[in-house]
Amino acid sequence: MEAMFVQTPEQRAVLDTVRRFVEEVVRPRAAELDARADPAESYSWEIVERADAVGIRTMTLGREYGGLGADALTTAMVIEELGRGDLGVSVIFAQTLKIAQIMQKALSPEQRARVLPGFAADPRGMLAIGITEPDVSSDYLVPHPRPFGTAAVKAPGGFVLNGLKHFISNGNRASHCLVFAQTDPGQPLAEGATCFLVERGRPGFTTGIVHDKMGERLANNAELIFQDCFIPDENVVGSVGRGFRVLAEFFPQSNAYAGASALGVAVAAYEKAVGWARVRVQGGMPLIEHDGIRAQLAEMRMLIDASRSYIHRAAWLAEHQEHGWDRTLGALPKVMASQAAWKIATWCLEIHGGHGYMKETGVEKLVRDAAAFLHSDGANRTLFLKAANFMFSA
Ligand SMILES: Cc1cc2nc3c(=O)[nH]c(=O)nc-3n(C[C@H](O)[C@H](O)[C@H](O)COP(=O)(O)OP(=O)(O)OC[C@H]3O[C@@H](n4cnc5c(N)ncnc54)[C@H](O)[C@@H]3O)c2cc1C
Repeated sequence: MEAMFVQTPEQRAVLDTVRRFVEEVVRPRAAELDARADPAESYSWEIVERADAVGIRTMTLGREYGGLGADALTTAMVIEELGRGDLGVSVIFAQTLKIAQIMQKALSPEQRARVLPGFAADPRGMLAIGITEPDVSSDYLVPHPRPFGTAAVKAPGGFVLNGLKHFISNGNRASHCLVFAQTDPGQPLAEGATCFLVERGRPGFTTGIVHDKMGERLANNAELIFQDCFIPDENVVGSVGRGFRVLAEFFPQSNAYAGASALGVAVAAYEKAVGWARVRVQGGMPLIEHDGIRAQLAEMRMLIDASRSYIHRAAWLAEHQEHGWDRTLGALPKVMASQAAWKIATWCLEIHGGHGYMKETGVEKLVRDAAAFLHSDGANRTLFLKAANFMFSA
């Protein structure tokens, strides 16, 4: 299946590299890593280092740091292609690629000079963003007056952090995290939270359990624990009390990237369904010659194409807002792509019949993976609410 609406020779070259990486490095190992019982063991530094060697890990960094300066549209295409190989691998790089983009815009020149060259040079340099807490999760997506539980209290020369974040992608693997904490406890989180840059190994910062997920297992999700963790003033990102501005101003394409990861799973499931329908003979002919199956494959194709168009439009407009950006594009493309991925993965299961239920066909992994983005990056219903608030609130 031609995956993308590729526009330039540069995009084609990047995508060819990523596709080779997926075929040679990711796909041969994905099933075995997915099947490991200990979630931490499903993570592969070898995959990270091989991605680094071909420039994937750092492709959104500017050329001054040795990156490609990839734009949001190209990045969305890369994330989809990685998701076609494995969702977890797509997510670990989607997080790193997008946070590198945020950091280049939101960090001060001093912070950039201090952090980015080291991140670029470290073949295991990965990035994470810590917002979600056990008791404050959808509340940061739809306006709710409750503050974050993670508190940052002013001290001479910095802030002292105490609290817990959970479900954080790359949480136990990242060299740097952007962490959101309440600096003004009297304010709701959207107005009283600050974004901090936290380096791995900082005293008072540890990681807790690695969550044992049903799918997306090649990515690790972990707790971030802060116990009297001192963060110097020079690690405040943006300004104090304006943490959510960092996301709103510097990261409109985040939702499109999440959608692209989910879309990769949809493409993998569609391709698997087509492959099976060509070889499985029932009723005297291959399944693909039965009208019901053919029509369902066309519907799967339509859902993929429509989701991709939405994602590409959102990714491109995020960087060209004067041409018609509207804020629902920062909430809905992921919802559409994840719903499409869920439908396509379960239809792929149906087309495989009982064989799909047997682990050896790999269909059940796709179904488990497809469930992830119904919730990740904001639960879908909450994102509908967020979009409706953009549409109908003054
Ligand atoms: C695989 C995965 C990776 C993740 N990675 C990260 C990460 O890297 N960083 C990070 O910060 N977070 C991360 N998250 C957290 C993710 O963003 C949250 O799971 C998500 O925001 C939903 O929160 P929740 O799971 O606590 O659900 P809840 O907030 O408990 O919601 C439960 C249900 O109630 C609905 N609901 C909630 N509030 C309302 C409302 N006001 N009105 C109507 N319905 C409502 C929701 O839509 C949902 O259906 C990740 C989650 C997963 C599953």
